Amino acid sequence: MKIIREFLPYFDERPNGATVKALVLHCSAHSARDMIEVLRERELSSHYIIDLDGSVWQLASEKKRAWHAGESRWRGMHMLNQYSVGIELSSATLGQSAYHPAQIKSLIKLGRQIIRHYQIPAVNVVAHSDIAPTRKPDPGIAFPWEYLAYKGIGTWYNLADAAKVAENEVAVLLQKIGYDTTDLAAASYAFCRHFAPAAVAVDDDVYHLVDNVYPVDFTLPPEYLPILKAVAHRYEK
Ligand SMILES: [Zn+2]
Repeated sequence: MKIIREFLPYFDERPNGATVKALVLHCSAHSARDMIEVLRERELSSHYIIDLDGSVWQLASEKKRAWHAGESRWRGMHMLNQYSVGIELSSATLGQSAYHPAQIKSLIKLGRQIIRHYQIPAVNVVAHSDIAPTRKPDPGIAFPWEYLAYKGIGTWYNLADAAKVAENEVAVLLQKIGYDTTDLAAASYAFCRHFAPAAVAVDDDVYHLVDNVYPVDFTLPPEYLPILKAVAHRYEK
């Protein structure tokens, strides 16, 4: 696939022995060109950006640790930059309205290549919000996780599996999936962003959203418990 290369200096070496075992998906409310300037100002990076028209930009070699995820935890991993490849998608609403089909087409192509190359487990294809639930809302409630799973990027749940799970404790179920539940409200909300987006409020002000990632008093509505159990069953395998 055609890739526009514009490397940024905001990366370092992956630490000894760290191999890529996760794919972290992000979005940002800028076009690729503007996003590169914002990343430059903040001394951050990402391996790839997928622009609104589906064009793919590369900012760092996959061999290097690009600075995209920050403080983060998932399934026993801490600081996921060392273990991951990061992809940013442009989205004016921060992923709260549908992504452009051209972007998703490019993401499927690029994501499949990365997953195949590093043999990344489907349970490690994650949202930035999954691994940093108190800090990050991206790639948002409109991110097409179910469709992508069908296309080989990540995984989805089967509601019928809920009946196979005896556990009912929300925190325990979230931990089985991989969430850090130190802040249970944040982890529950991040779960909903990914698997039950109807439980998440749309915030029309993206600047407000980035500073108010989750309602601090949020608890998982009981009607979503079966989805949580079904997801836990899928991720536990
Ligand atoms: Zn992000």
